[in-house]
Amino acid sequence: MTTEILTIPCLADNYTFLMHDDTTGTTALFDAPEPFPVTRALEEQGWKLDKVFLTHHHWDHIDGLPELRDEYRPQVIGAKADIGRLPALDQSVTEGDTVTVGNIEGTVFDVSGHTNGHVAFYFPDAKALFTGDSLMALGCGRLFEGDAETMWSSLSKLAALPPDTLVYSGHEYTAANAKFALTIEPDNAALQARARDITEKRAKGIATVPSTLGEELATNPFLRASVPQVKANLGMENAPDALVFAKIRQMKDNF
Ligand code: ZN
Ligand code: FE
Repeated sequence: MTTEILTIPCLADNYTFLMHDDTTGTTALFDAPEPFPVTRALEEQGWKLDKVFLTHHHWDHIDGLPELRDEYRPQVIGAKADIGRLPALDQSVTEGDTVTVGNIEGTVFDVSGHTNGHVAFYFPDAKALFTGDSLMALGCGRLFEGDAETMWSSLSKLAALPPDTLVYSGHEYTAANAKFALTIEPDNAALQARARDITEKRAKGIATVPSTLGEELATNPFLRASVPQVKANLGMENAPDALVFAKIRQMKDNF
C-alpha cells in the first residue's frame, strides 16, 4: 500500500492536504480554504477528488468547498456535532468512527476547544494526523468556543498517539509560535534548535508543516503544561495541568 500526501498552501497562511491511495486511486482533501490551488494540484497529479474531510466550520477551512463540489462531486465528511454550521455532509462522524480513503482506514477524534465540534482525522498506517486548528506546529488554536479544560483534554488525546505521527495542521504560524514558545521555555535545547530550523526554513519559503508529534511533545508549550520544568518556569509548581495550559494560552493571546 502506498500513500501520498501533498501539502498545499492556500490563502495567506493556510494549508490543505491531498491524501492519495495508490492502490485504489482514491484521493481525499483535508479542509478546503480555497478551490484553485487544489484543482491545480489535482490536475498536475492526474487525480480526481473523491472525498473532502472538514475539521471545523471556520470560513478559512470550508469556503473552497462549493467550487470543488461542483467540479468533482466528492463525498463530504464532517462532525455530526456541528451539522448546523458545516456545509451539507454526506457522512457525519463522531469520535471513534472509522473513515476511509480507498483502502486506508482512519479514525475520528473530537478535539473541541478552538470550536466545539472540531474534529481531527488519524490514519495510523499512513502515520498521518490531520488536526486543523486544534494541535498546530508549536501551537494550538485560540479558544473561540471551548474552555481551556476542554482543549487540554483534546490535546491530551492527540499527545498519546505514536511520536512518529506526522501532524498536518492548518496554518503556517510556526515562526511566531516559536518566538512565544521560547518565552515559556528559554532553556529548552530542543526548542532552541527547532526555532533555528524554522527560521532557516521560512527564509527559504519551506513549509514547517507537517511536523512530527515527537517534535511537538518536546517543544510545543501547549502540549507541555504537565511538564514540571514548565510549571516551575511559570511559578505554578502545584497547579493542575489544565490550569497551566490555560495560563499559557492566555499568555499567547496577549503576546
Ligand atoms: Zn479555525
Ligand atoms: Fe483556521
